[in-house]
Amino acid sequence: LVEVSHVDKYFGDLHVLKDINLKVTKGEVLVIIGPSGSGKSTLCRTINRLEAIDSGVIRIDGEPLPQEGKDLTRLRAEVGMVFQSFNLFAHKSILDNVTLAPRKVRRISKDQADKEAMELLARVGVDSQAKKLPAQLSGGQQQRVAIARSLAMHPKVMLFDEPTSALDPEMINEVLDVMVDLAKEGMTMIVVTHEMGFARQAANRVVFMADGEILEEGTPEEFFEHTKTERAKDFLGKIL
Ligand code: ATP
Ligand code: MG
Repeated sequence: LVEVSHVDKYFGDLHVLKDINLKVTKGEVLVIIGPSGSGKSTLCRTINRLEAIDSGVIRIDGEPLPQEGKDLTRLRAEVGMVFQSFNLFAHKSILDNVTLAPRKVRRISKDQADKEAMELLARVGVDSQAKKLPAQLSGGQQQRVAIARSLAMHPKVMLFDEPTSALDPEMINEVLDVMVDLAKEGMTMIVVTHEMGFARQAANRVVFMADGEILEEGTPEEFFEHTKTERAKDFLGKIL
């Protein structure tokens, strides 16, 4: 479903992604881990085409990513993204946050959008908050709204870039639980996280990145129990 092949990306002289190759099949959950600055966020952003790539090709469902224009809007609808900071529209209600993009891009009616949004908000456990503003919700609730908002576009794949790292500890699990449910329902997911519990529980595959390269790739079992590179062992030693 997602195919990244021979992708290179530079920021000026900095070679942030070095010949990245990845395939994510439908329904698969891929967890990306690695030290700060290794290029994890940049990789996510290239898949959503928030960043252009310098060489290689990224395909979603067999189609190479569009470079610009209308197709880009369609692509963004196909690839949902949830960030560390929840990025909700501060002056819009929770319900409006979820319905805005579908009404605009999928061109569905307000009634239909509201109905779908309420179902999604119920699914992530915040439907009782629909009329409130984002600031009136806890961080964990806001992040669950952000997930519902992405799902409202009916994405083919969901990207999560450290979705729980800005949250207070007691709110991390409520967000991870929603993500585990999504995984169980068969959503294709690419998740950058340092939550190793989630990786063990929900990942089909773990990728370890350092300095813009993929150094290891394997099942959670292979990666955690039979770590190959010193770099990954060192990293795991620090975070576990
Ligand atoms: P973290 O775990 O801290 O989130 P990361 O693995 O997500 O790190 P990236 O954010 O992808 O790493 O950054 C990779 C490298 O690219 C870093 O050296 C970073 O400073 C650099 N970088 C990221 N965005 C830009 C940008 N817009 N312009 C210039 N350099 C950038
Ligand atoms: Mg990052």
